[in-house]
Amino acid sequence: MTAIRNIVILTGAGISAESGLRTFRAEDGLWEDHRVEDVATPQAFRRDPELVQRFYDLRRENVLAAQPNPAHQALARLDREWPGELLIVTQNIDDLHERAGAQRVLHMHGEALSAWCTACHARHHWTSTLLDSPPCPACGAAALRPDIVWFGEMPYEMERIFSALARADLFVSIGTSGAVYPAAGFVQQAASHGARTLELNLERSLGSSMFDETRLGPASEIVPAWVEEVLG
Ligand SMILES: [Zn+2]
Repeated sequence: MTAIRNIVILTGAGISAESGLRTFRAEDGLWEDHRVEDVATPQAFRRDPELVQRFYDLRRENVLAAQPNPAHQALARLDREWPGELLIVTQNIDDLHERAGAQRVLHMHGEALSAWCTACHARHHWTSTLLDSPPCPACGAAALRPDIVWFGEMPYEMERIFSALARADLFVSIGTSGAVYPAAGFVQQAASHGARTLELNLERSLGSSMFDETRLGPASEIVPAWVEEVLG
């Protein structure tokens, strides 16, 4: 085995589920009992902004109440101690990686604790509500929306992600269903550049066959065990 220097880690719903956060399930298309078409598309926001703002106000509240679990903590330790390049690309909108102490984190689908002004395009750390149409702290317009990448919108920082995947020696996917693109294609992207690929998941996913290796179990157990192994 060639020496591993650069690691890209993709995390999804499975890592935050054990912290009590539910996210979109590709299997039934539901997110907290809402159809994604009703709460996670630009069309839904135009049609019923109150429903969408209320939905994300609740998600924000849940995120603030949740705590990082041993899987987040193990990845934060890896981030601290790994001497090579490392990037945690998360599909999750919570800040549990950061609260566990990880710094090299990229939120490709946006963040629950961020508000984006559609008038001046400023982004603000946000912990309260948006349903009451608060003014943008930068320009004063009542034009804030959740800073979430909705279905039909372009995920954030794809260039940076693809460039990290091209340099990766190891790509690890943790707790993702392998059903939502473009993230579902990262494993092939990394493999085509010669990276070894590993999946850590509760159960086999749609994409399992594309990985060199799959380890099954709860993230709070198999992620710390893997980190222990990598740090030797
Ligand atoms: Zn503004």
